[in-house]
Amino acid sequence: MNNLVNILYIVAFAMFIYGLMGLTGPKTAVRGNWIAAVGMGIAVVATLIEVRDAAAINWILIAAGLGIGVLLGVPPAKRTKMTAMPQLVALFNGVGGGTVALIAWAEFIETDGFSVFHHGEEPTVHIVVGSLFAAIIGSVSFWGSLVAFLKLQELLNKNVEKAFVKNARIFQLTNIVLLVLAVAVSIYIGIEATPGGGTAWWTIVVVLIAAGLMGLFVVFPIGGADMPVVISLLNALTGLSAAAAGLALNNTAMIVAGMIVGASGSILTNLMATAMNRSIPAIVFGSFGGGGAAAAGGPGDEGGTVRSTSAADAAIQMAYASQVIVVPGYGLAVAQAQHAVKDMASILESKGVEVKYAIHPVAGRMPGHMNVLLAEADVEYDAMKEMDDINGEFNRTDVTIVIGANDVTNPAARNDPSSPIHGMPILNVDESRSVIVLKRSMSSGYAGIDNPLFTADRTSMLFGDAKKSVNSVIEELKAL
Ligand code: NDP
Repeated sequence: MNNLVNILYIVAFAMFIYGLMGLTGPKTAVRGNWIAAVGMGIAVVATLIEVRDAAAINWILIAAGLGIGVLLGVPPAKRTKMTAMPQLVALFNGVGGGTVALIAWAEFIETDGFSVFHHGEEPTVHIVVGSLFAAIIGSVSFWGSLVAFLKLQELLNKNVEKAFVKNARIFQLTNIVLLVLAVAVSIYIGIEATPGGGTAWWTIVVVLIAAGLMGLFVVFPIGGADMPVVISLLNALTGLSAAAAGLALNNTAMIVAGMIVGASGSILTNLMATAMNRSIPAIVFGSFGGGGAAAAGGPGDEGGTVRSTSAADAAIQMAYASQVIVVPGYGLAVAQAQHAVKDMASILESKGVEVKYAIHPVAGRMPGHMNVLLAEADVEYDAMKEMDDINGEFNRTDVTIVIGANDVTNPAARNDPSSPIHGMPILNVDESRSVIVLKRSMSSGYAGIDNPLFTADRTSMLFGDAKKSVNSVIEELKAL
Protein backbone atom coordinates (compact mmCIF):
# COMPACT_ATOMS: atom_id res chain seq x y z
CA MET A 1 0.00 0.00 0.00
CA ASN A 2 2.97 2.25 0.73
CA ASN A 3 4.03 1.97 -2.91
CA LEU A 4 0.57 2.97 -4.08
CA VAL A 5 0.67 6.06 -1.82
CA ASN A 6 4.10 7.02 -3.18
CA ILE A 7 2.97 6.55 -6.77
CA LEU A 8 -0.12 8.68 -6.15
CA TYR A 9 2.02 11.41 -4.55
CA ILE A 10 4.40 11.43 -7.53
CA VAL A 11 1.46 11.70 -9.94
CA ALA A 12 0.07 14.56 -7.83
CA PHE A 13 3.40 16.45 -7.81
CA ALA A 14 3.79 16.05 -11.56
CA MET A 15 0.28 17.48 -11.95
CA PHE A 16 1.08 20.44 -9.64
CA ILE A 17 4.12 21.32 -11.73
CA TYR A 18 2.40 20.76 -15.06
CA GLY A 19 -0.60 22.77 -13.85
CA LEU A 20 1.66 25.60 -12.72
CA MET A 21 3.26 25.68 -16.15
CA GLY A 22 -0.24 26.19 -17.57
CA LEU A 23 -0.68 29.26 -15.37
CA THR A 24 2.07 31.08 -17.26
CA GLY A 25 -0.34 32.08 -20.04
CA PRO A 26 -4.02 33.12 -20.04
CA LYS A 27 -4.88 30.60 -22.78
CA THR A 28 -3.65 27.61 -20.78
CA ALA A 29 -4.44 28.97 -17.30
CA VAL A 30 -7.89 27.40 -16.87
CA ARG A 31 -6.59 23.98 -17.91
CA GLY A 32 -3.54 24.45 -15.65
CA ASN A 33 -5.81 25.27 -12.73
CA TRP A 34 -7.87 22.14 -13.31
CA ILE A 35 -4.81 19.92 -13.62
CA ALA A 36 -3.33 21.26 -10.35
CA ALA A 37 -6.72 20.91 -8.61
CA VAL A 38 -7.06 17.27 -9.70
CA GLY A 39 -3.45 16.76 -8.51
CA MET A 40 -4.45 18.15 -5.11
CA GLY A 41 -7.45 15.79 -5.03
CA ILE A 42 -5.11 12.84 -5.70
CA ALA A 43 -2.73 14.03 -2.94
CA VAL A 44 -5.66 14.20 -0.47
CA VAL A 45 -6.76 10.67 -1.40
CA ALA A 46 -3.14 9.42 -1.02
CA THR A 47 -2.90 11.04 2.43
CA LEU A 48 -6.18 9.46 3.51
CA ILE A 49 -4.94 6.04 2.36
CA GLU A 50 -1.68 6.63 4.23
CA VAL A 51 -3.35 7.48 7.54
CA ARG A 52 -6.35 5.14 7.29
CA ASP A 53 -5.04 2.76 9.97
CA ALA A 54 -4.04 5.41 12.50
CA ALA A 55 -5.84 4.91 15.79
CA ALA A 56 -6.79 8.56 16.15
CA ILE A 57 -8.34 8.87 12.70
CA ASN A 58 -11.82 10.36 12.81
CA TRP A 59 -13.55 9.96 9.45
CA ILE A 60 -16.54 12.01 10.47
CA LEU A 61 -14.34 15.00 11.31
CA ILE A 62 -12.46 14.61 8.02
CA ALA A 63 -15.69 14.40 6.02
CA ALA A 64 -17.09 17.40 7.89
CA GLY A 65 -13.90 19.38 7.18
CA LEU A 66 -14.03 18.56 3.48
CA GLY A 67 -17.76 19.37 3.35
CA ILE A 68 -17.40 22.72 5.11
CA GLY A 69 -14.40 23.62 2.93
CA VAL A 70 -16.35 22.90 -0.25
CA LEU A 71 -19.43 24.77 1.00
CA LEU A 72 -17.41 27.84 2.01
CA GLY A 73 -15.02 27.80 -0.95
CA VAL A 74 -17.08 27.04 -4.04
CA PRO A 75 -19.89 29.67 -3.88
CA PRO A 76 -17.62 32.74 -3.51
CA ALA A 77 -15.19 31.37 -6.12
CA LYS A 78 -18.11 30.99 -8.56
CA ARG A 79 -19.90 34.23 -7.73
CA THR A 80 -17.05 36.69 -7.22
CA LYS A 81 -16.73 39.26 -9.97
CA MET A 82 -13.45 39.53 -11.87
CA THR A 83 -12.80 42.92 -10.22
CA ALA A 84 -13.08 41.41 -6.73
CA MET A 85 -10.83 38.44 -7.55
CA PRO A 86 -7.69 39.98 -5.92
CA GLN A 87 -9.39 40.24 -2.53
CA LEU A 88 -10.75 36.69 -2.86
CA VAL A 89 -7.23 35.48 -3.61
CA ALA A 90 -5.96 37.41 -0.55
CA LEU A 91 -8.64 35.76 1.59
CA PHE A 92 -7.96 32.25 0.27
CA ASN A 93 -4.24 32.80 0.80
CA GLY A 94 -4.89 33.91 4.37
CA VAL A 95 -7.03 30.85 5.06
CA GLY A 96 -4.09 28.68 3.92
CA GLY A 97 -1.74 30.43 6.36
CA GLY A 98 -4.32 30.21 9.17
CA THR A 99 -4.78 26.49 8.57
CA VAL A 100 -1.05 25.91 8.84
CA ALA A 101 -0.87 27.89 12.10
CA LEU A 102 -3.75 25.79 13.49
CA ILE A 103 -2.00 22.56 12.44
CA ALA A 104 1.11 23.68 14.36
CA TRP A 105 -1.04 24.51 17.38
CA ALA A 106 -2.80 21.13 17.19
CA GLU A 107 0.58 19.36 16.98
CA PHE A 108 1.70 21.22 20.13
CA ILE A 109 -1.46 20.24 22.02
CA GLU A 110 -1.36 16.63 20.81
CA THR A 111 2.22 16.13 21.91
CA ASP A 112 1.66 17.96 25.21
CA GLY A 113 4.06 20.78 24.37
CA PHE A 114 6.31 18.53 22.23
CA SER A 115 6.98 16.20 25.15
CA VAL A 116 4.84 13.10 24.52
CA PHE A 117 5.26 11.42 21.17
CA HIS A 118 2.93 8.88 19.63
CA HIS A 119 5.12 5.85 19.32
CA GLY A 120 7.45 6.70 22.14
CA GLU A 121 9.95 8.32 19.76
CA GLU A 122 12.06 11.34 20.71
CA PRO A 123 10.79 14.75 19.61
CA THR A 124 12.76 15.37 16.43
CA VAL A 125 14.13 18.72 15.29
CA HIS A 126 12.05 18.68 12.14
CA ILE A 127 8.80 18.26 14.10
CA VAL A 128 9.54 20.97 16.66
CA VAL A 129 11.26 23.52 14.42
CA GLY A 130 8.87 22.81 11.54
CA SER A 131 5.82 23.34 13.77
CA LEU A 132 7.15 26.54 15.34
CA PHE A 133 8.17 27.99 11.95
CA ALA A 134 4.72 27.08 10.60
CA ALA A 135 3.04 28.68 13.64
CA ILE A 136 4.88 31.99 13.20
CA ILE A 137 4.76 32.32 9.42
CA GLY A 138 1.24 30.88 9.12
CA SER A 139 -0.07 33.34 11.69
CA VAL A 140 1.69 36.32 10.03
CA SER A 141 0.25 35.24 6.70
CA PHE A 142 -3.31 34.79 8.02
CA TRP A 143 -3.62 38.16 9.76
CA GLY A 144 -1.62 40.02 7.09
CA SER A 145 -3.81 38.60 4.32
CA LEU A 146 -6.91 39.57 6.26
CA VAL A 147 -5.77 43.21 6.29
CA ALA A 148 -4.86 42.97 2.59
CA PHE A 149 -8.42 41.73 1.98
CA LEU A 150 -9.92 44.63 3.94
CA LYS A 151 -7.76 47.14 2.05
CA LEU A 152 -8.56 45.70 -1.38
CA GLN A 153 -12.26 45.51 -0.55
CA GLU A 154 -12.02 49.14 0.65
CA LEU A 155 -13.58 48.15 3.97
CA LEU A 156 -10.94 49.90 6.03
CA ASN A 157 -11.96 53.24 7.44
CA LYS A 158 -9.83 55.93 5.77
CA ASN A 159 -9.08 57.64 9.10
CA VAL A 160 -7.86 54.37 10.60
CA GLU A 161 -5.68 53.84 7.53
CA LYS A 162 -4.32 57.40 7.82
CA ALA A 163 -3.46 56.82 11.50
CA PHE A 164 -1.52 53.66 10.61
CA VAL A 165 0.44 55.40 7.85
CA LYS A 166 1.19 58.38 10.11
CA ASN A 167 2.48 56.12 12.88
CA ALA A 168 4.27 53.64 10.60
CA ARG A 169 7.56 54.01 12.50
CA ILE A 170 5.92 52.98 15.80
CA PHE A 171 4.51 49.87 14.16
CA GLN A 172 7.85 49.00 12.61
CA LEU A 173 9.52 49.16 16.03
CA THR A 174 6.66 47.18 17.58
CA ASN A 175 7.17 44.54 14.88
CA ILE A 176 10.81 44.13 15.84
CA VAL A 177 9.78 43.60 19.49
CA LEU A 178 7.07 41.11 18.43
CA LEU A 179 9.51 39.20 16.21
CA VAL A 180 12.04 38.94 19.04
CA LEU A 181 9.27 37.80 21.41
CA ALA A 182 7.93 35.13 19.01
CA VAL A 183 11.42 33.78 18.27
CA ALA A 184 12.52 33.86 21.94
CA VAL A 185 9.42 31.96 23.13
CA SER A 186 9.86 29.50 20.23
CA ILE A 187 13.48 28.87 21.30
CA TYR A 188 12.25 28.29 24.86
CA ILE A 189 9.62 25.82 23.59
CA GLY A 190 12.30 24.10 21.49
CA ILE A 191 14.71 23.76 24.40
CA GLU A 192 12.01 22.27 26.64
CA ALA A 193 10.84 19.87 23.91
CA THR A 194 12.09 16.67 25.52
CA PRO A 195 10.28 13.51 26.67
CA GLY A 196 8.74 14.42 29.99
CA GLY A 197 9.59 18.11 29.40
CA GLY A 198 7.38 20.41 27.35
CA THR A 199 6.03 23.88 28.02
CA ALA A 200 2.70 25.23 29.23
CA TRP A 201 -0.22 25.64 26.81
CA TRP A 202 0.08 29.42 26.75
CA THR A 203 3.62 29.48 25.30
CA ILE A 204 2.44 28.56 21.79
CA VAL A 205 -0.46 31.00 22.20
CA VAL A 206 2.07 33.79 22.87
CA VAL A 207 3.92 32.80 19.67
CA LEU A 208 0.70 32.77 17.64
CA ILE A 209 -0.51 36.12 19.03
CA ALA A 210 2.88 37.85 18.61
CA ALA A 211 3.12 36.60 15.01
CA GLY A 212 -0.51 37.53 14.32
CA LEU A 213 0.02 41.10 15.57
CA MET A 214 3.14 41.27 13.42
CA GLY A 215 1.06 40.30 10.36
CA LEU A 216 -1.45 43.06 11.17
CA PHE A 217 1.15 45.73 11.86
CA VAL A 218 3.24 44.94 8.77
CA VAL A 219 0.35 45.24 6.33
CA PHE A 220 -1.75 48.02 7.95
CA PRO A 221 0.74 50.86 7.29
CA ILE A 222 1.71 49.72 3.79
CA GLY A 223 0.82 52.17 1.07
CA GLY A 224 -1.30 51.49 -1.98
CA ALA A 225 1.61 51.33 -4.39
CA ASP A 226 3.31 48.60 -2.36
CA MET A 227 0.29 46.35 -1.92
CA PRO A 228 0.97 44.21 -5.01
CA VAL A 229 4.40 43.20 -3.68
CA VAL A 230 3.02 42.56 -0.19
CA ILE A 231 0.26 40.33 -1.54
CA SER A 232 2.70 38.11 -3.41
CA LEU A 233 5.01 38.11 -0.36
CA LEU A 234 2.14 36.85 1.83
CA ASN A 235 1.46 34.21 -0.79
CA ALA A 236 5.08 33.06 -0.66
CA LEU A 237 4.95 32.98 3.16
CA THR A 238 1.85 30.78 3.13
CA GLY A 239 3.67 28.32 0.85
CA LEU A 240 6.74 28.25 3.08
CA SER A 241 4.67 27.76 6.23
CA ALA A 242 2.78 24.87 4.56
CA ALA A 243 6.10 23.25 3.64
CA ALA A 244 7.29 23.63 7.25
CA ALA A 245 4.07 22.07 8.55
CA GLY A 246 4.56 19.24 6.03
CA LEU A 247 8.00 18.69 7.51
CA ALA A 248 6.51 18.51 10.99
CA LEU A 249 3.77 16.09 9.94
CA ASN A 250 6.12 14.12 7.70
CA ASN A 251 3.72 14.72 4.83
CA THR A 252 5.50 14.82 1.47
CA ALA A 253 2.51 16.31 -0.37
CA MET A 254 2.45 19.34 1.93
CA ILE A 255 6.20 19.81 1.62
CA VAL A 256 6.16 19.70 -2.17
CA ALA A 257 2.99 21.78 -2.63
CA GLY A 258 4.21 24.30 -0.03
CA MET A 259 7.62 24.60 -1.67
CA ILE A 260 6.06 25.11 -5.10
CA VAL A 261 3.85 27.91 -3.76
CA GLY A 262 6.72 29.33 -1.70
CA ALA A 263 9.17 29.29 -4.60
CA SER A 264 6.77 30.68 -7.20
CA GLY A 265 5.52 33.31 -4.72
CA SER A 266 9.10 34.33 -3.92
CA ILE A 267 9.99 34.64 -7.61
CA LEU A 268 6.85 36.72 -8.22
CA THR A 269 7.60 38.93 -5.18
CA ASN A 270 11.09 39.54 -6.47
CA LEU A 271 9.87 40.33 -9.98
CA MET A 272 7.21 42.73 -8.69
CA ALA A 273 9.65 44.46 -6.32
CA THR A 274 12.17 44.88 -9.16
CA ALA A 275 9.44 46.21 -11.44
CA MET A 276 8.47 48.72 -8.73
CA ASN A 277 12.10 49.70 -8.14
CA ARG A 278 11.80 48.68 -4.50
CA SER A 279 13.62 46.33 -2.21
CA ILE A 280 11.52 43.89 -0.17
CA PRO A 281 12.93 45.03 3.23
CA ALA A 282 12.20 48.64 2.23
CA ILE A 283 8.57 47.67 1.62
CA VAL A 284 8.16 45.67 4.82
CA PHE A 285 10.04 48.10 7.04
CA GLY A 286 9.24 51.41 5.38
CA SER A 287 5.96 52.79 4.14
CA PHE A 288 5.80 53.92 0.56
CA GLY A 289 2.87 54.74 -1.61
CA GLY A 290 1.03 57.01 0.73
CA GLY A 291 -1.20 54.50 2.49
CA GLY A 292 -3.87 53.98 -0.09
CA ALA A 293 -6.58 56.56 -0.32
CA ALA A 294 -5.44 57.91 3.02
CA ALA A 295 -2.52 59.73 1.42
CA ALA A 296 -2.05 63.45 1.47
CA GLY A 297 -3.83 65.55 -1.08
CA GLY A 298 -6.94 63.55 -1.69
CA PRO A 299 -9.01 63.35 -4.76
CA GLY A 300 -9.71 66.30 -6.96
CA ASP A 301 -6.99 68.62 -5.66
CA GLU A 302 -5.10 68.85 -8.93
CA GLY A 303 -5.31 72.62 -9.04
CA GLY A 304 -4.54 72.91 -12.80
CA THR A 305 -6.86 73.32 -15.74
CA VAL A 306 -8.90 70.31 -16.67
CA ARG A 307 -9.83 70.07 -20.35
CA SER A 308 -12.75 67.81 -21.16
CA THR A 309 -13.20 66.39 -24.58
CA SER A 310 -15.92 64.55 -26.50
CA ALA A 311 -16.13 61.10 -28.03
CA ALA A 312 -16.22 62.76 -31.47
CA ASP A 313 -12.97 64.62 -30.85
CA ALA A 314 -11.28 61.50 -29.43
CA ALA A 315 -12.39 59.52 -32.50
CA ILE A 316 -11.03 62.14 -34.93
CA GLN A 317 -7.68 62.34 -33.12
CA MET A 318 -7.23 58.57 -33.15
CA ALA A 319 -8.51 57.97 -36.67
CA TYR A 320 -5.86 60.30 -38.10
CA ALA A 321 -3.00 59.05 -35.92
CA SER A 322 -0.33 56.71 -37.19
CA GLN A 323 0.11 55.06 -33.78
CA VAL A 324 -2.26 54.85 -30.80
CA ILE A 325 -1.22 53.35 -27.46
CA VAL A 326 -3.95 52.03 -25.19
CA VAL A 327 -3.10 52.16 -21.46
CA PRO A 328 -5.50 49.94 -19.51
CA GLY A 329 -5.94 50.20 -15.74
CA TYR A 330 -8.19 49.10 -12.93
CA GLY A 331 -11.12 51.16 -14.30
CA LEU A 332 -11.09 49.04 -17.47
CA ALA A 333 -11.73 46.00 -15.27
CA VAL A 334 -14.48 47.80 -13.32
CA ALA A 335 -16.21 48.89 -16.52
CA GLN A 336 -15.56 45.51 -18.20
CA ALA A 337 -14.59 47.50 -21.27
CA GLN A 338 -12.10 45.00 -22.68
CA HIS A 339 -14.31 43.78 -25.55
CA ALA A 340 -15.29 47.33 -26.49
CA VAL A 341 -11.61 48.34 -26.45
CA LYS A 342 -10.73 45.46 -28.75
CA ASP A 343 -13.55 46.49 -31.13
CA MET A 344 -12.29 50.09 -31.11
CA ALA A 345 -8.75 48.91 -31.86
CA SER A 346 -9.99 46.74 -34.75
CA ILE A 347 -11.75 49.74 -36.33
CA LEU A 348 -8.63 51.87 -35.92
CA GLU A 349 -6.47 49.12 -37.43
CA SER A 350 -8.84 48.88 -40.38
CA LYS A 351 -8.11 52.58 -40.91
CA GLY A 352 -4.36 51.89 -40.99
CA VAL A 353 -3.62 53.01 -37.40
CA GLU A 354 -1.14 50.90 -35.46
CA VAL A 355 -2.55 50.05 -32.01
CA LYS A 356 -0.43 48.84 -29.09
CA TYR A 357 -1.30 48.15 -25.47
CA ALA A 358 1.03 49.33 -22.67
CA ILE A 359 0.91 47.01 -19.68
CA HIS A 360 2.22 48.26 -16.34
CA PRO A 361 3.22 45.39 -14.01
CA VAL A 362 0.90 46.58 -11.21
CA ALA A 363 -1.99 47.94 -13.28
CA GLY A 364 -5.29 46.70 -11.91
CA ARG A 365 -5.46 44.84 -8.62
CA MET A 366 -3.48 41.65 -9.21
CA PRO A 367 -0.38 40.64 -11.14
CA GLY A 368 -1.23 40.04 -14.79
CA HIS A 369 -4.73 41.56 -14.32
CA MET A 370 -4.63 43.54 -17.58
CA ASN A 371 -3.13 40.67 -19.59
CA VAL A 372 -5.95 38.40 -18.44
CA LEU A 373 -8.65 40.96 -19.30
CA LEU A 374 -7.25 41.76 -22.72
CA ALA A 375 -6.64 38.09 -23.52
CA GLU A 376 -10.31 37.49 -22.69
CA ALA A 377 -11.14 39.92 -25.51
CA ASP A 378 -8.72 38.12 -27.86
CA VAL A 379 -6.16 40.92 -28.00
CA GLU A 380 -3.02 39.53 -29.65
CA TYR A 381 -0.15 38.88 -27.20
CA ASP A 382 2.23 40.64 -29.56
CA ALA A 383 0.24 43.85 -29.21
CA MET A 384 0.59 43.82 -25.38
CA LYS A 385 3.85 45.57 -24.55
CA GLU A 386 5.53 45.52 -21.18
CA MET A 387 6.45 48.82 -19.54
CA ASP A 388 10.17 48.71 -20.35
CA ASP A 389 9.49 47.82 -23.97
CA ILE A 390 6.92 50.56 -24.62
CA ASN A 391 8.20 53.47 -22.53
CA GLY A 392 10.59 54.62 -25.25
CA GLU A 393 7.71 54.81 -27.74
CA PHE A 394 5.41 57.32 -26.06
CA ASN A 395 7.34 60.36 -27.30
CA ARG A 396 6.77 59.27 -30.91
CA THR A 397 3.13 58.34 -30.40
CA ASP A 398 0.36 60.57 -31.70
CA VAL A 399 -2.37 59.57 -29.26
CA THR A 400 -2.29 57.65 -26.00
CA ILE A 401 -5.68 56.65 -24.66
CA VAL A 402 -5.65 55.95 -20.92
CA ILE A 403 -8.61 53.75 -20.02
CA GLY A 404 -9.34 53.61 -16.29
CA ALA A 405 -5.65 53.85 -15.34
CA ASN A 406 -4.37 56.41 -12.88
CA ASP A 407 -1.45 55.64 -10.52
CA VAL A 408 0.51 53.76 -13.18
CA THR A 409 0.58 56.90 -15.34
CA ASN A 410 1.33 59.45 -12.59
CA PRO A 411 4.35 61.58 -13.65
CA ALA A 412 4.82 62.69 -10.02
CA ALA A 413 6.44 59.28 -9.44
CA ARG A 414 9.18 60.45 -11.81
CA ASN A 415 9.30 64.22 -11.25
CA ASP A 416 8.23 65.01 -7.71
CA PRO A 417 10.56 63.83 -4.92
CA SER A 418 7.92 64.75 -2.33
CA SER A 419 5.35 62.43 -3.91
CA PRO A 420 4.53 59.34 -1.84
CA ILE A 421 5.04 57.21 -4.96
CA HIS A 422 8.29 58.90 -6.04
CA GLY A 423 10.61 56.26 -7.50
CA MET A 424 7.86 53.93 -8.69
CA PRO A 425 8.40 53.28 -12.42
CA ILE A 426 5.42 54.48 -14.46
CA LEU A 427 4.27 54.43 -18.06
CA ASN A 428 5.61 57.67 -19.61
CA VAL A 429 2.21 58.54 -21.01
CA ASP A 430 2.78 62.29 -20.55
CA GLU A 431 5.44 62.23 -23.28
CA SER A 432 2.86 61.44 -25.98
CA ARG A 433 1.81 64.16 -28.43
CA SER A 434 -1.76 63.86 -27.16
CA VAL A 435 -3.26 62.03 -24.18
CA ILE A 436 -6.94 61.18 -23.78
CA VAL A 437 -7.95 59.94 -20.32
CA LEU A 438 -11.16 57.97 -19.87
CA LYS A 439 -12.48 57.99 -16.30
CA ARG A 440 -15.60 59.03 -14.47
CA SER A 441 -14.34 61.93 -12.36
CA MET A 442 -11.17 63.54 -11.05
CA SER A 443 -10.99 60.97 -8.23
CA SER A 444 -7.64 59.52 -7.29
CA GLY A 445 -6.56 55.92 -7.88
CA TYR A 446 -5.59 53.25 -5.35
CA ALA A 447 -2.60 55.20 -3.96
CA GLY A 448 -4.95 58.08 -3.15
CA ILE A 449 -2.85 60.84 -4.68
CA ASP A 450 -3.37 63.53 -7.32
CA ASN A 451 -2.24 62.87 -10.85
CA PRO A 452 -0.77 65.94 -12.62
CA LEU A 453 -1.20 64.09 -15.93
CA PHE A 454 -4.89 65.01 -15.86
CA THR A 455 -4.15 68.74 -15.97
CA ALA A 456 -1.15 68.60 -18.30
CA ASP A 457 -1.26 70.70 -21.52
CA ARG A 458 -1.46 67.72 -23.84
CA THR A 459 -4.14 65.89 -21.86
CA SER A 460 -7.89 65.95 -22.39
CA MET A 461 -10.40 64.08 -20.23
CA LEU A 462 -13.30 62.05 -21.60
CA PHE A 463 -15.46 61.69 -18.49
CA GLY A 464 -17.80 58.73 -18.02
CA ASP A 465 -17.84 54.99 -17.54
CA ALA A 466 -15.02 53.56 -19.66
CA LYS A 467 -17.21 51.08 -21.53
CA LYS A 468 -19.82 53.71 -22.40
CA SER A 469 -17.13 56.16 -23.49
CA VAL A 470 -15.35 53.60 -25.68
CA ASN A 471 -18.68 52.60 -27.25
CA SER A 472 -19.40 56.27 -28.02
CA VAL A 473 -15.96 56.59 -29.60
CA ILE A 474 -16.71 53.47 -31.68
CA GLU A 475 -19.95 55.06 -32.95
CA GLU A 476 -18.04 58.21 -33.91
CA LEU A 477 -15.29 56.20 -35.61
CA LYS A 478 -17.88 54.33 -37.67
CA ALA A 479 -19.42 57.62 -38.72
CA LEU A 480 -16.10 59.06 -39.97
P1 NDP B 1 -5.84 53.09 -10.12
O1 NDP B 1 -6.45 52.41 -8.96
O2 NDP B 1 -4.69 53.99 -9.89
O3 NDP B 1 -6.94 53.97 -10.86
C1 NDP B 1 -8.08 53.41 -11.43
C2 NDP B 1 -8.93 54.54 -11.99
O4 NDP B 1 -10.00 53.93 -12.68
C3 NDP B 1 -9.53 55.41 -10.91
O5 NDP B 1 -8.87 56.65 -10.83
C4 NDP B 1 -11.00 55.54 -11.31
O6 NDP B 1 -11.32 56.92 -11.48
C5 NDP B 1 -11.07 54.82 -12.66
N1 NDP B 1 -12.30 54.05 -12.80
C6 NDP B 1 -12.90 53.25 -11.89
N2 NDP B 1 -14.02 52.74 -12.41
C7 NDP B 1 -14.13 53.21 -13.67
C8 NDP B 1 -15.09 53.04 -14.69
N3 NDP B 1 -16.19 52.27 -14.57
N4 NDP B 1 -14.89 53.69 -15.86
C9 NDP B 1 -13.81 54.49 -16.03
N5 NDP B 1 -12.87 54.69 -15.08
C10 NDP B 1 -13.04 54.05 -13.92
O7 NDP B 1 -5.50 51.97 -11.20
P2 NDP B 1 -4.15 51.65 -11.94
O8 NDP B 1 -4.45 50.40 -12.71
O9 NDP B 1 -3.63 52.83 -12.68
O10 NDP B 1 -3.11 51.35 -10.78
C11 NDP B 1 -3.22 50.22 -9.94
C12 NDP B 1 -3.04 50.61 -8.49
O11 NDP B 1 -3.47 49.53 -7.66
C13 NDP B 1 -1.60 50.91 -8.13
O12 NDP B 1 -1.53 51.89 -7.14
C14 NDP B 1 -1.14 49.55 -7.58
O13 NDP B 1 -0.03 49.66 -6.72
C15 NDP B 1 -2.38 49.13 -6.82
N6 NDP B 1 -2.48 47.69 -6.60
C16 NDP B 1 -2.15 46.82 -7.60
C17 NDP B 1 -2.17 45.47 -7.40
C18 NDP B 1 -1.69 44.54 -8.46
O14 NDP B 1 -1.24 43.44 -8.15
N7 NDP B 1 -1.77 44.93 -9.71
C19 NDP B 1 -2.63 44.91 -6.10
C20 NDP B 1 -3.01 45.91 -5.11
C21 NDP B 1 -2.93 47.25 -5.39
P3 NDP B 1 -12.85 57.41 -11.40
O15 NDP B 1 -13.36 56.96 -10.08
O16 NDP B 1 -12.75 58.89 -11.56
O17 NDP B 1 -13.58 56.78 -12.54
